Amino acid sequence: MFRLTHNISILGSPGSGKGFYGRLLAQHWKVPLVTTSDILKKHAQRHSNQSLDMESGKLADCQLVAGVLLENLREQHQIQRTNSTRPWHCILDGFPRTTLQIQIMQETWPVEYQIHGGLHLNVPDEVCRQKSLGRRFCTICQDFVNTANVQMDDWDLPPTYPKLCSKACDPKTDWLQRKDDVLAIIQARLAMHHEHEEPILDYFRQHNTLCQFTPYKGVRDFDKLRLSAEEWLQALTV
Ligand SMILES: [Zn+2]
Repeated sequence: MFRLTHNISILGSPGSGKGFYGRLLAQHWKVPLVTTSDILKKHAQRHSNQSLDMESGKLADCQLVAGVLLENLREQHQIQRTNSTRPWHCILDGFPRTTLQIQIMQETWPVEYQIHGGLHLNVPDEVCRQKSLGRRFCTICQDFVNTANVQMDDWDLPPTYPKLCSKACDPKTDWLQRKDDVLAIIQARLAMHHEHEEPILDYFRQHNTLCQFTPYKGVRDFDKLRLSAEEWLQALTV
């Protein structure tokens, strides 16, 4: 059985499904998935005067994001320590967002929390757009629905429904769309993402610590994704 012995960051465009695959990998490897946006949201609620901009390349913002995240990793590690002797390893979603965040991590984080590699989901913008537009939340099932049926080139991503939704739920009243899942905002999110992503991918590429995967068949490609990630991690020498 594979055991994760690195900290990795899951990378990909908004709409690529990285949160979804990250969750499945974390469940499979029995390690925490650390979702930076959730941590920052909670932090902002506790300190109502402090707003955090994850993607601003500004030093103060990057320091704050890296600091809040490190504090959370330490807390989670502390909790894990009480019932396990395993060393700390996790999957990070949403960090690093800028190369400055990488630099701050290297200079200020203890080695055990630093990220060793990036797992990048290679999903073209058109697929991300369609999947973002199809995203709904079923208030009855308390689960995500995706109504988009992406069939282009080698991509085959049919709609996904929670089991209940196929019968009991009414799409008109029970399925909610997020207010920011509209085309103009999706386009802006993708543009913003690409601006920061290339230098981050370059960083991992230059250090030989990047693994790229194209999930043509969505969840049906999960085992393939997992196996190529495991093969890559076993060969990773950092
Ligand atoms: Zn439902």
